[in-house]
Parts: sequence; C-alpha cells; structure tokens
Amino acid sequence: MERFRQLSPSEFFYRNREIAGFSNPARAVYQTIRELVENALDAAETHGLLPEVRLNVELEADGKVRIRVEDEGVGISPLEMPNAFGRVLYGSKYVLRQSRGVFGLGVKMAVLYAQLTTGQPVKVRSSVRRASFVYEAEIAIDVERNLPIVKRLEVERNESRWHGTVVELVIRGDWSQARGRVEEYIKRTAMIAPYANIFAYGPQLLLEFNRSSTKLPPTPAVGKPHPRGVDVELLRKLIEEANKNSTLEEFLTENFDGVGPITARKFCEWAGFDANKKVRSLTIDEIETLAVKMQAFEGWRRPKPSTLSPLGEELLAKGVKEVLKPDFVTAVSRPPSSYAGHPFIVEVAVAYGGGIPLSEEPLLYRFANRIPLLYDEGVDVSMKVVKRIDWSVYKVKFPSQLAVVTHVCSTKVPFKGVGKEAVADVPELESEIEAGIRECSRRLRSYLSRMEKLMEARKWEITVSKYVDEVASSLSYVSGEDKELLRSKLLEFIKAKISERGVPYAKGR
Ligand code: ADP
Ligand code: MG
Repeated sequence: MERFRQLSPSEFFYRNREIAGFSNPARAVYQTIRELVENALDAAETHGLLPEVRLNVELEADGKVRIRVEDEGVGISPLEMPNAFGRVLYGSKYVLRQSRGVFGLGVKMAVLYAQLTTGQPVKVRSSVRRASFVYEAEIAIDVERNLPIVKRLEVERNESRWHGTVVELVIRGDWSQARGRVEEYIKRTAMIAPYANIFAYGPQLLLEFNRSSTKLPPTPAVGKPHPRGVDVELLRKLIEEANKNSTLEEFLTENFDGVGPITARKFCEWAGFDANKKVRSLTIDEIETLAVKMQAFEGWRRPKPSTLSPLGEELLAKGVKEVLKPDFVTAVSRPPSSYAGHPFIVEVAVAYGGGIPLSEEPLLYRFANRIPLLYDEGVDVSMKVVKRIDWSVYKVKFPSQLAVVTHVCSTKVPFKGVGKEAVADVPELESEIEAGIRECSRRLRSYLSRMEKLMEARKWEITVSKYVDEVASSLSYVSGEDKELLRSKLLEFIKAKISERGVPYAKGR
C-alpha cells in the first residue's frame, strides 16, 4: 500500500534548500548573510529610517561559522518574533510595496540551515521604536508542523531607548570559499545604498562604508493590485470579502489600482457586464470571464509607481562613484512602466575609467529592489541586453574599463528562482533596460569624444611645441626681432589654435 501524507512548508524547503540558494557550504554562508542583511536594510529604509547595519562573522571549531547582523531598524514585536523567525512563509512583506524581502522565507531558510548543520537555534534580540523593553529569544523550527519553538525568552528594560534587531546564527559553512563573494556583496550593497552605514567584520574581512548621503529614496506606499494582473483566484477572494450590496462598479473602484467610476463603467460596457450588478451574485463562470476580460482590457490606467522606491539618478551616480571610483559616471532613472499589471522602474548607470578594472567586456553590476545579484549572471535579462549592444557605436574599444549598472524596482521582480539571483527576460523590462543603457551610453560617447579631442589636441600641442624654440631662433635670426617675444607669440598662437578646436586649453583630466 502507498502511504500518503502532507508535507509542511518547512519540510519542503528543508528538503529543497538549494532552490533558495543553500546549495553548498560556501553558498550557504553567503546566502545566510544576504538574508540577514536584506532584512536589516528593509527594517530601516522601508520605514524611512537611515540604515545602520553591522555584520560580524566569527569562525569556531569544526567549520562552524557564527554570523551576527545588527540593525537599528523598526524592530519586531515579541508577539511576531517567533513566527517571523520560526515559521516558513510568514512575514510582513506580503503587501504590494517594494522591499527586498518578498517570500517570507529568507531568514527561516537560514534558521533551518543552522538547525540542520549545527542544531543551534537562532538568537534574536529586538526592540521596536519607543518601547520600554528589549526581548531576546532563541527560536527553533518544528519542521514537521512548520511552527516555531521558543527555547528561551528574556525581557530587559530598554534604558537607552534602543530600537532595532540583532540576529545571530551558527551554521556549518565554508568561510574561506564564501569570503570573496560576501565582500563583493557588501560592496555592491553599499553602491546601491549610499545613504546607509554598513560595516562588515570577519576573518580577512573589514569593510566600512559610511553614508555619503543622508537622503533616503521615497518610502514606498502600500498599493492595490492592478486590474490587469488579476486571476480567478484573486477575484474570487476579493468578491468573497466584498460588501453584500456592492455593485460591480463599486467593487472595481474600491479594490483596484487606478480604477475610477468612469473607467469601471467603460470596462463593464466593453466586457459585456452590467455595472450595477451585485458583485456577490456573479457565478463562477462569470468570475472567470471577468478575470479574462480584466486582463485583456486596454483602457486601464498604468499601475501607479507610488509602491516603488527607485534610488534616483543622483543617488545611483553617487553610490557608483563612491564604490568604483570611475573617471566618468552617468545615471538614468527611466519613467515608470509595467508588465502584466506590475509596475516597475528601471535605473541604469554607466561608468568608465578610473578605478574600474580593465576587462575584455563590460563589467555588469545587477540589482533588483536594491538587492545585488551575484550569481547566475549569464541568464539575467541585463546580461542579454549588454551582450547585444555594439559598444563601438559608443566609442568604447575593448579591453576597456567599462561598468554597466542596472537596477530593477518592482512590486514583483520576475526572479528566476526564490534564491533571487537572476531576473527573467520579460519583454517590457528588457526594452526599458536597453533604453536606459543606450541613454547612458550616448552620454558616455560624448564624454569619450571630448576626451578624444583633448588627447588629439595634446598630441598636436606636444609635437608643435617641440619646434617653438627652433622656429623662434630662426625667425629672430632672419628678422632681428627679440627671440623671447617671438617664442611667447608662437605659444599664444598654439593656444589659440587649440581653443579653436573647441577643447579647453591644458585643462580637463
Ligand atoms: P521576508 O523578508 O521575505 O518577509 P523573512 O523570513 O526574511 O521574510 O523575514 C520574515 C519577517 O520577519 C519579515 O517580513 C519581517 O517582518 C521580520 N523581520 C526579519 N528580520 C527583521 C529585522 N531585522 N527587523 C525587523 N523585522 C524583521
Ligand atoms: Mg527577508
């Protein structure tokens, strides 16, 4: 006889941890750090606080790695703490608003991994804003039931009015293999968050990024779903929750993004529905048709980008400058766009020269909702676009020092997996990324032409100047004029010739 049973979400992810990025001991260290740092940043910037993040890594006996991340974010209440850290698919980010976390999974994967490799629970210490107490707990996961087990809970007076969270985990992992990636991850995080203080300490790891700006990007608002993005399930749920007397028109305007009475009636007419019909009286077949029609209707307004929190051109350029130290950087924040009812904004920066390493191809730095993406570059949509660009059009000749930075913000980034490492090639996204890169590259081209002209002028200047003494002597000899006077006249002439070419004389880098 076959025996059937239900698998809990914890058990599912426990068995399939590689899909969440926990595929080997090095990757596990990197992924754990990432999940904790992402949560720390979310806890501050999503709520309008300037992030203060401190990572500590310590090596212990038998290949154990102790990882601690401290933040001064909004903190988490003791009521939510056990579930937030000990129950898979539990979180506060299941709303339509841009954040780094989306699945309610990350930290639990790290807790599960710790449990699996060292048997140690996660230690969490937290206080919310203006709270009189600090709570500290040790939490493990009951894998079969997907429930938290609180092993210890302590309360202290919060004398200093501290708010924030400290999370500590001990996993078995390969620090020497992970170190490089972690360093790269922290650097890139600093690049995309120039308003954050980020410190990272560990064996062969010392990074201190002090904020170069105190300007936070706009705090994203919580939004409603866009009518284009509905499906039968969502519609059914919303209709169930709707007021008994709600008409279809009221239902549409109340529950969806950017739908006013006029649009709602237009849609109903187009779709062949009676706008005054009680929404709760719709049959399941009608709901199905409604969903299909809502997805197909062309007359909806674009999704509102208020749920998004793009970095902005100034901050992005600043972050890139701070970390890569290039000679030239330019950034573009594209206008809001959408795919399948999900709003998104693409931001691109292109940097050149200076501290950027010489390479045979453009160096790509990818970000999604301010998460640096380090793995799976080959299958990412940004790579696809970068590859197809003919860089000689923009006067870049390889080997060169070129860096391309792409940042996709969306309430639903089309990630290729729950490990969040690559963005899928959704056509709308792809064309925005391309437009952004091309706009930046055009600016790079004019910078490079200016530099080219400058170089040419310099060369000409050097060549011509070689003859100044000789010519001044000869002229002085045949004309009897003062040699020094002739020399300075000749130099003046050279200067004039150079500025005629539109190049600032002996200026620029
Ligand atoms: P996600 O980040 O996708 O929501 P996680 O499992 O990483 O899922 O975290 C679960 C929840 O725990 C978060 O939604 C958040 O509410 C809370 N949380 C985790 N870390 C912190 C932190 N450092 N500060 C405040 N809240 C946190
Ligand atoms: Mg998270």
